[in-house]
Amino acid sequence: VNSDNLPEPLGSALPAEEFLQDLASTLEPHGFDDDNTLVALSTCRDEMTQRFTQEVDRRFGPPFSHGGLAGLPSGGSTAWVACLSHVPDDGRGKLLAVGLAHVGLEADGSTGSYHRPWMRDSAPTCGALGVVLGSWDDPDPQEPVSDHELHVLRAEMAALGGRPPDMLAATMVAADVILGRLVSQISAQDPWDRMDVAVVSGIQVHTMAGVGSGDRFLATGGGLLDADGLHPLWGTPGG
Ligand SMILES: [Zn+2]
Repeated sequence: VNSDNLPEPLGSALPAEEFLQDLASTLEPHGFDDDNTLVALSTCRDEMTQRFTQEVDRRFGPPFSHGGLAGLPSGGSTAWVACLSHVPDDGRGKLLAVGLAHVGLEADGSTGSYHRPWMRDSAPTCGALGVVLGSWDDPDPQEPVSDHELHVLRAEMAALGGRPPDMLAATMVAADVILGRLVSQISAQDPWDRMDVAVVSGIQVHTMAGVGSGDRFLATGGGLLDADGLHPLWGTPGG
Protein backbone atom coordinates (compact mmCIF):
# COMPACT_ATOMS: atom_id res chain seq x y z
CA VAL A 1 0.00 0.00 0.00
CA ASN A 2 1.29 3.47 -0.89
CA SER A 3 0.22 7.00 -0.09
CA ASP A 4 -2.05 7.21 -3.12
CA ASN A 5 -3.62 3.78 -2.50
CA LEU A 6 -2.72 2.75 -6.02
CA PRO A 7 -3.43 -0.92 -6.74
CA GLU A 8 -0.58 -3.10 -8.02
CA PRO A 9 1.04 -3.02 -10.48
CA LEU A 10 0.56 0.76 -10.40
CA GLY A 11 1.92 1.21 -6.86
CA SER A 12 5.07 3.11 -7.80
CA ALA A 13 3.38 5.55 -10.20
CA LEU A 14 4.55 9.14 -9.73
CA PRO A 15 3.06 12.63 -10.11
CA ALA A 16 3.73 14.13 -13.55
CA GLU A 17 6.55 16.43 -12.50
CA GLU A 18 8.46 13.65 -10.72
CA PHE A 19 7.83 11.21 -13.58
CA LEU A 20 9.26 13.67 -16.11
CA GLN A 21 12.20 14.44 -13.83
CA ASP A 22 12.89 10.70 -13.58
CA LEU A 23 12.92 10.41 -17.37
CA ALA A 24 15.25 13.42 -17.65
CA SER A 25 17.62 12.07 -14.98
CA THR A 26 17.79 8.65 -16.63
CA LEU A 27 18.53 10.21 -20.02
CA GLU A 28 20.92 12.95 -18.88
CA PRO A 29 23.99 10.63 -18.90
CA HIS A 30 23.11 9.83 -22.52
CA GLY A 31 23.29 13.47 -23.58
CA PHE A 32 19.61 14.38 -23.46
CA ASP A 33 18.86 17.81 -22.00
CA ASP A 34 16.00 20.32 -22.02
CA ASP A 35 17.46 22.26 -24.95
CA ASN A 36 18.38 19.48 -27.38
CA THR A 37 15.36 17.22 -26.87
CA LEU A 38 12.06 17.17 -28.75
CA VAL A 39 9.30 15.11 -27.15
CA ALA A 40 7.05 13.00 -29.38
CA LEU A 41 3.94 12.46 -27.27
CA SER A 42 1.34 9.77 -27.83
CA THR A 43 -1.56 9.89 -25.38
CA CYS A 44 -5.25 9.08 -25.78
CA ARG A 45 -7.63 11.65 -27.20
CA ASP A 46 -9.56 11.67 -23.89
CA GLU A 47 -9.67 15.14 -22.28
CA MET A 48 -8.40 13.47 -19.09
CA THR A 49 -4.95 13.04 -20.64
CA GLN A 50 -4.51 16.63 -21.82
CA ARG A 51 -3.08 18.27 -18.73
CA PHE A 52 -0.06 16.01 -19.06
CA THR A 53 0.70 17.73 -22.36
CA GLN A 54 1.04 20.98 -20.40
CA GLU A 55 3.40 19.29 -17.93
CA VAL A 56 5.56 18.02 -20.81
CA ASP A 57 5.56 21.53 -22.30
CA ARG A 58 6.73 23.02 -18.98
CA ARG A 59 9.58 20.51 -18.69
CA PHE A 60 10.78 19.98 -22.30
CA GLY A 61 8.89 22.49 -24.47
CA PRO A 62 5.84 21.77 -26.62
CA PRO A 63 5.60 18.12 -27.76
CA PHE A 64 4.71 16.81 -31.22
CA SER A 65 1.33 15.09 -30.86
CA HIS A 66 0.97 11.54 -32.23
CA GLY A 67 -1.77 10.13 -30.03
CA GLY A 68 -4.88 8.39 -31.25
CA LEU A 69 -7.47 6.36 -29.31
CA ALA A 70 -6.01 4.61 -26.25
CA GLY A 71 -2.68 6.38 -26.81
CA LEU A 72 -1.61 4.48 -29.93
CA PRO A 73 0.51 6.63 -32.25
CA SER A 74 -1.87 7.27 -35.11
CA GLY A 75 -0.29 9.76 -37.52
CA GLY A 76 1.59 7.21 -39.59
CA SER A 77 4.85 7.83 -41.42
CA THR A 78 3.84 11.37 -42.43
CA ALA A 79 3.62 12.39 -38.77
CA TRP A 80 7.00 10.82 -38.03
CA VAL A 81 8.70 12.50 -41.00
CA ALA A 82 7.42 15.87 -39.77
CA CYS A 83 8.24 15.19 -36.12
CA LEU A 84 11.78 13.98 -36.83
CA SER A 85 12.44 17.00 -39.04
CA HIS A 86 11.69 19.24 -36.02
CA VAL A 87 14.28 17.71 -33.68
CA PRO A 88 16.88 20.32 -32.61
CA ASP A 89 19.72 20.21 -35.13
CA ASP A 90 22.43 22.24 -33.40
CA GLY A 91 24.67 19.20 -33.03
CA ARG A 92 23.21 15.74 -32.69
CA GLY A 93 19.56 16.11 -31.71
CA LYS A 94 17.58 14.00 -29.30
CA LEU A 95 14.09 12.57 -29.70
CA LEU A 96 12.20 11.38 -26.62
CA ALA A 97 9.07 9.46 -27.59
CA VAL A 98 6.60 9.06 -24.71
CA GLY A 99 3.54 6.86 -25.22
CA LEU A 100 0.96 6.31 -22.48
CA ALA A 101 -2.10 4.18 -22.05
CA HIS A 102 -4.44 5.47 -19.34
CA VAL A 103 -6.80 4.08 -16.73
CA GLY A 104 -9.27 5.53 -14.26
CA LEU A 105 -9.15 4.74 -10.54
CA GLU A 106 -12.32 5.03 -8.49
CA ALA A 107 -12.69 5.96 -4.81
CA ASP A 108 -13.33 2.29 -3.93
CA GLY A 109 -10.02 1.26 -5.53
CA SER A 110 -11.56 -0.28 -8.63
CA THR A 111 -9.97 0.50 -12.01
CA GLY A 112 -11.24 1.03 -15.53
CA SER A 113 -13.73 3.82 -14.96
CA TYR A 114 -13.51 7.36 -13.64
CA HIS A 115 -15.96 9.75 -12.08
CA ARG A 116 -15.40 13.04 -13.83
CA PRO A 117 -16.65 15.70 -11.39
CA TRP A 118 -18.72 17.35 -14.12
CA MET A 119 -20.67 14.15 -14.80
CA ARG A 120 -23.37 12.43 -12.73
CA ASP A 121 -21.99 8.91 -13.28
CA SER A 122 -18.62 7.29 -13.87
CA ALA A 123 -17.52 6.53 -17.43
CA PRO A 124 -15.23 3.80 -18.78
CA THR A 125 -11.63 5.09 -18.83
CA CYS A 126 -10.02 4.41 -21.22
CA GLY A 127 -13.28 4.34 -23.17
CA ALA A 128 -11.67 2.91 -26.32
CA LEU A 129 -10.33 -0.07 -24.35
CA GLY A 130 -13.81 -0.50 -22.89
CA VAL A 131 -15.24 -0.74 -26.40
CA VAL A 132 -12.65 -3.32 -27.45
CA LEU A 133 -13.15 -5.47 -24.33
CA GLY A 134 -16.92 -5.20 -24.58
CA SER A 135 -16.99 -6.45 -28.17
CA TRP A 136 -14.01 -8.84 -28.07
CA ASP A 137 -16.01 -11.95 -29.03
CA ASP A 138 -18.36 -10.27 -31.47
CA PRO A 139 -18.24 -11.44 -35.08
CA ASP A 140 -16.06 -9.13 -37.20
CA PRO A 141 -17.34 -5.70 -36.04
CA GLN A 142 -16.52 -4.21 -39.45
CA GLU A 143 -15.53 -0.79 -38.23
CA PRO A 144 -16.01 1.83 -40.94
CA VAL A 145 -12.93 3.48 -42.44
CA SER A 146 -13.60 6.53 -40.28
CA ASP A 147 -13.12 4.33 -37.19
CA HIS A 148 -9.69 3.11 -38.23
CA GLU A 149 -8.04 3.91 -34.87
CA LEU A 150 -10.37 1.53 -33.05
CA HIS A 151 -9.81 -1.10 -35.73
CA VAL A 152 -6.02 -0.89 -35.33
CA LEU A 153 -6.34 -0.96 -31.52
CA ARG A 154 -8.52 -4.10 -31.68
CA ALA A 155 -6.23 -5.87 -34.16
CA GLU A 156 -3.00 -5.08 -32.29
CA MET A 157 -4.40 -6.13 -28.91
CA ALA A 158 -5.70 -9.37 -30.39
CA ALA A 159 -2.27 -10.03 -31.89
CA LEU A 160 -0.75 -9.95 -28.38
CA GLY A 161 -3.05 -12.66 -27.01
CA GLY A 162 -6.52 -13.45 -25.75
CA ARG A 163 -9.06 -11.06 -24.25
CA PRO A 164 -7.51 -9.31 -21.22
CA PRO A 165 -9.57 -10.21 -18.13
CA ASP A 166 -10.26 -6.63 -17.08
CA MET A 167 -9.59 -2.99 -17.89
CA LEU A 168 -6.35 -2.81 -15.91
CA ALA A 169 -4.98 -5.83 -17.75
CA ALA A 170 -6.13 -4.29 -21.04
CA THR A 171 -4.31 -1.09 -20.10
CA MET A 172 -1.08 -3.04 -19.60
CA VAL A 173 -1.53 -4.70 -23.00
CA ALA A 174 -2.22 -1.30 -24.59
CA ALA A 175 1.03 0.06 -23.14
CA ASP A 176 2.88 -2.86 -24.76
CA VAL A 177 1.15 -2.18 -28.08
CA ILE A 178 2.13 1.49 -27.86
CA LEU A 179 5.78 0.62 -27.19
CA GLY A 180 5.88 -1.77 -30.13
CA ARG A 181 4.36 0.78 -32.48
CA LEU A 182 6.69 3.57 -31.35
CA VAL A 183 9.73 1.34 -31.86
CA SER A 184 8.68 0.03 -35.28
CA GLN A 185 7.41 3.37 -36.65
CA ILE A 186 10.46 5.38 -35.56
CA SER A 187 12.87 2.63 -36.70
CA ALA A 188 11.23 2.64 -40.13
CA GLN A 189 12.40 6.25 -40.54
CA ASP A 190 16.05 5.23 -40.05
CA PRO A 191 16.98 8.51 -38.26
CA TRP A 192 20.17 7.19 -36.65
CA ASP A 193 22.63 9.34 -38.63
CA ARG A 194 20.94 12.51 -37.36
CA MET A 195 19.79 11.93 -33.80
CA ASP A 196 19.67 9.84 -30.66
CA VAL A 197 16.30 8.34 -29.78
CA ALA A 198 14.75 7.26 -26.50
CA VAL A 199 11.34 5.59 -26.26
CA VAL A 200 9.29 5.08 -23.11
CA SER A 201 5.84 3.60 -22.67
CA GLY A 202 3.72 3.65 -19.58
CA ILE A 203 0.40 4.20 -17.89
CA GLN A 204 -1.33 7.39 -16.78
CA VAL A 205 -3.61 6.79 -13.78
CA HIS A 206 -6.45 9.22 -13.06
CA THR A 207 -7.13 9.32 -9.31
CA MET A 208 -9.80 10.83 -7.10
CA ALA A 209 -7.15 13.30 -5.86
CA GLY A 210 -8.21 15.58 -8.72
CA VAL A 211 -8.48 15.90 -12.48
CA GLY A 212 -4.93 16.38 -13.74
CA SER A 213 -3.45 17.14 -10.30
CA GLY A 214 -4.20 13.59 -9.12
CA ASP A 215 -2.70 11.85 -12.15
CA ARG A 216 0.09 9.36 -11.52
CA PHE A 217 2.50 7.94 -14.11
CA LEU A 218 4.29 4.62 -14.37
CA ALA A 219 6.92 3.70 -16.96
CA THR A 220 6.37 0.11 -18.11
CA GLY A 221 8.95 -0.24 -20.86
CA GLY A 222 11.39 1.43 -23.18
CA GLY A 223 14.98 2.57 -23.47
CA LEU A 224 17.45 3.89 -26.01
CA LEU A 225 16.61 2.97 -29.59
CA ASP A 226 19.16 2.67 -32.39
CA ALA A 227 19.83 0.64 -35.52
CA ASP A 228 20.47 -2.43 -33.33
CA GLY A 229 17.08 -2.14 -31.60
CA LEU A 230 15.88 -1.20 -28.13
CA HIS A 231 18.34 -1.06 -25.21
CA PRO A 232 16.13 -1.18 -22.10
CA LEU A 233 16.21 1.58 -19.49
CA TRP A 234 12.66 1.21 -18.15
CA GLY A 235 10.40 -1.66 -17.24
CA THR A 236 11.25 -4.99 -15.69
CA PRO A 237 12.66 -7.84 -17.78
CA GLY A 238 9.79 -9.96 -18.95
CA GLY A 239 7.33 -7.61 -17.25
ZN1 LIG B 1 -8.74 6.76 -23.66
